[in-house]
Amino acid sequence: MVHLGLWNNRPVTISEKPNSITFSLEEKESTQVFSFDMEYRLWTALINQVSYRRGLNGNIVAKWNSGKEILHRSWLDQTEREKLLTYSHQLIRDFLINDPTQTGSFSPPLTTNILKHLKQISNQTLDFYKIDIDKYHQVYKPVGILPPDQYNSVVLQVTEGCSFNTCTFCDFYKNRPFRIKTSQEFLEHAKQVNQFIGNGMNLRRTIFLGDANALVTPTRKLIPLLEIVNQTFDVNRLGGMFAFLDGFSGEKKTSQDYLHLKQLGMEKIYIGLESGDDALLKFLNKPGKAKDALKAVEEIKKGGLSVGVIILLGAGGRQFAKQHIQNTVKLINQMALNADDLVYFSELIENSDLEYTKKAYQANLSPLTPLEREQQGQIMAKDFKFYQNDAPHISRYDIRDFVY
Ligand code: SF4
Repeated sequence: MVHLGLWNNRPVTISEKPNSITFSLEEKESTQVFSFDMEYRLWTALINQVSYRRGLNGNIVAKWNSGKEILHRSWLDQTEREKLLTYSHQLIRDFLINDPTQTGSFSPPLTTNILKHLKQISNQTLDFYKIDIDKYHQVYKPVGILPPDQYNSVVLQVTEGCSFNTCTFCDFYKNRPFRIKTSQEFLEHAKQVNQFIGNGMNLRRTIFLGDANALVTPTRKLIPLLEIVNQTFDVNRLGGMFAFLDGFSGEKKTSQDYLHLKQLGMEKIYIGLESGDDALLKFLNKPGKAKDALKAVEEIKKGGLSVGVIILLGAGGRQFAKQHIQNTVKLINQMALNADDLVYFSELIENSDLEYTKKAYQANLSPLTPLEREQQGQIMAKDFKFYQNDAPHISRYDIRDFVY
């Protein structure tokens, strides 16, 4: 239900949904918007045309445009986070100080229910957030990365770390030994996640099985774990289960295995392909070859699941660019992708600690500029051949935007 009214002569919109409460205040120059989950945690905010998104781990990313359509991004530090949280809850407190049912003339009138929710929001303090973040860290090992359409999922860490951990461009799990949780451990973890997210569960869409390549777990071990997910969560309501399959030299699943996973609620598998060029995969120290990725996609799709294929733009710099484009296009065109599938272009993000950066320096690789990386994606997309009206959605994947 949406309630429209006035507060100090400023238009206010309060939206009450089963999964969130949103409070918007129109100012002369811009509108401020705050949304909260049903545990009354701040979820998103918009102030002075800067948008903020808070993850369950307490991190907050701010994004804004320069006016030339260039998106800027900044992760708030502790002081900035506290300032934003204090401001958001104080605003609701101020709004409630003079009984808004008397002064605001809302249409439709504010219900007892929405006032109860606003009161709860106004009661949240920085101590609440401190305890909430502590609980998060008791439940989760740091969540390394998710595909962009999965930022709002319920992450369940079936495994921890990456079973390969060799790729030179990736440092998400470098200090975390790979392990598969036992059924008992995973049941405990799933219950704790359920309890931690609590009433915020309504806001969540999908279940994502972490970490890097949960599906490397042998099928006979994986099935009892997926049964636990079904016992603990309403998998259907949440829209099914999703996971990465990364690196292709490990245990290979058949279409029968994938069919079994589908029957347990699995929907889509994200493949960290990076490139269709074997020489580049070797340079990146990525396990497996292009033909292994193709075989995996064929088996997954035969088993009735869809895929999200991730391509690393800029990998191998100028020296690998031509073969990266040609062989990736060739491979994608062999995958028979359709509208259920996704193709993601993820830009290589370098830092001086990455092994990739050191190797690129030793090999005297000439890096592509951000514009050239973007163009690399455009060239590939132009040469992809999909069935008309049944083409996969193609979009960007910026790992710097990740928030959970
Ligand atoms: S397989 Fe994936 S998660 Fe593991 S090191 Fe390579 S890119 Fe990173």
